Amino acid sequence: MLTYKLNDSGKILVKVDRFFPSSKRCSVCHEVNHDLKLSDREWTCQSCGTHHDRDKNSCKNLLDEGKDILNRWASGDSSLILAPSGVLSGKKLHPQAHSNVRQGGE
Ligand SMILES: [Zn+2]
Repeated sequence: MLTYKLNDSGKILVKVDRFFPSSKRCSVCHEVNHDLKLSDREWTCQSCGTHHDRDKNSCKNLLDEGKDILNRWASGDSSLILAPSGVLSGKKLHPQAHSNVRQGGE
């Protein structure tokens, strides 16, 4: 559905690897908080001291990662592939991971 809508307006969908640590990574300094639990709705980065709302931090990380993938693809990174359907992703991404893309990094 999302792919179709984007295609319609000449855009592409960028898929972020499901193992990307979107929730656990600090969106400011990129330090990964390995101690973060699912129940932690807010947390403070031990590295830079930024206080995070879990979901907002995760959104920022996914947006940054998506832009990064797009930039890498635009500069010729051969580990990325744009499918005829208009979906840009890493070659190693397993097809069954697709339904879980928004939950990436848990
Ligand atoms: Zn930080």
